[in-house]
Amino acid sequence: MKMRGEQEALLCGVRSLLPEMQRDALGFDEAAEFPRASLEALAELGALKASLPEQFEGLGFGYGEQGAAELLRLFMLLGEASLSVARLYEAHVNALQLIVRYGSESLAWACAEDAGQKHIFALWVTDPHGQELVLEPRGTGFVLRGRKDFCSGAGTATRALITANDRTGTRMLLVRLRPGERVLSSRLKLGGMRAAVTGSVDFSGMEVEQSDLIGEVGDYLREPAFSAGAWRGSAAALGGLAAIVECHREQILQRHREDDPHQRMRFGQNVIAYETARLWMVKVARLACVEDDSAEAIVAYVNLARLAVEAVCLEAMQTAQRSLGLSGFIAGSRMEMLCRDLGAYLRQPAPDETLTKAAAYYFRNAFPGI
Ligand SMILES: Cc1cc2nc3c(=O)[nH]c(=O)nc-3n(C[C@H](O)[C@H](O)[C@H](O)COP(=O)(O)OP(=O)(O)OC[C@H]3O[C@@H](n4cnc5c(N)ncnc54)[C@H](O)[C@@H]3O)c2cc1C
Repeated sequence: MKMRGEQEALLCGVRSLLPEMQRDALGFDEAAEFPRASLEALAELGALKASLPEQFEGLGFGYGEQGAAELLRLFMLLGEASLSVARLYEAHVNALQLIVRYGSESLAWACAEDAGQKHIFALWVTDPHGQELVLEPRGTGFVLRGRKDFCSGAGTATRALITANDRTGTRMLLVRLRPGERVLSSRLKLGGMRAAVTGSVDFSGMEVEQSDLIGEVGDYLREPAFSAGAWRGSAAALGGLAAIVECHREQILQRHREDDPHQRMRFGQNVIAYETARLWMVKVARLACVEDDSAEAIVAYVNLARLAVEAVCLEAMQTAQRSLGLSGFIAGSRMEMLCRDLGAYLRQPAPDETLTKAAAYYFRNAFPGI
């Protein structure tokens, strides 16, 4: 598919950043530090506005067939560069898409301006077990009570779409934060995705205005957008898989072991794994962005794609580790970091339910083409 000028320029720009971002990723991982230089370089290229529709002065990444292909390409490049950067960017895109889909036009414009001024948006929707974030009426607005966990970009993202519950259900709202504001000093340390700087944020006492609410009660969970949005995480994971396949290839070549039949077999299996995941993603990106089927059909297919990508990634990591042996586990080496990051990133919510719901759908409706 032919890319459009500005969109192609952005993708070329990101591709040219790849070697630098890959080098930097090791340092950010070691220090468990937010990848500021990578995000700043992406912001310079205009990537923070790319996923806005053209009516909000974006590049339309993620909208329509062309936008689907472009956003898939972008996530694959970022995942190949650094899964933590891809994760942070994925949340930024997700938040902006929800704001455009459900928010008022004035809020969407304000957020487009913020993105243009290099504010990074986060999406923080995970409540501590059994303690949801509560939105209570106060005066003409609201006040929040509680916190969010697993917040990527905590302390650095200065805009966040969060969910909170009032008496009627779950609402989305936009919060504005200063760097470091409300971040809890957490003992939680993830073994992988360390540079995504995932922490907890305490919103207790924060005041929110009516104009910061996004959409209606229940919109966050509305299908197909809620489940179909998972395609973006899978696209980033696919980029991580590409990095593993390339690292696997380089290291076997460096050891001059490429003529060994077992090494050839394992590398061949990993190329198949990558291509299998890529083919799923091409189809699923189009389906999720164009939305030209029923919500149920879109969700079922995206759910299968998510699990298919997860399965091939898990297998490919094991295969690459088997090929490289213990050197694939040297702390701070590229393969070790890639597998640690991808292993953590693949832990997305409710995988069992995702597969069984999709299977239930295809019991009721024959799988397309069968
Ligand atoms: C790198 C990274 C960054 C993240 N950043 C953010 C962020 O910025 N904002 C945010 O909101 N979240 C974030 N998350 C959290 C994410 O959204 C999910 O909450 C998290 O990944 C869920 O993973 P889990 O394995 O704990 O899922 P779970 O859904 O708890 O799954 C764990 C296992 O339990 C099973 N299971 C699930 N539910 C049930 C049940 N009811 N009964 C029995 N078994 C069950 C599942 O099938 C699975 O086998 C991040 C996650 C990662 C990995």
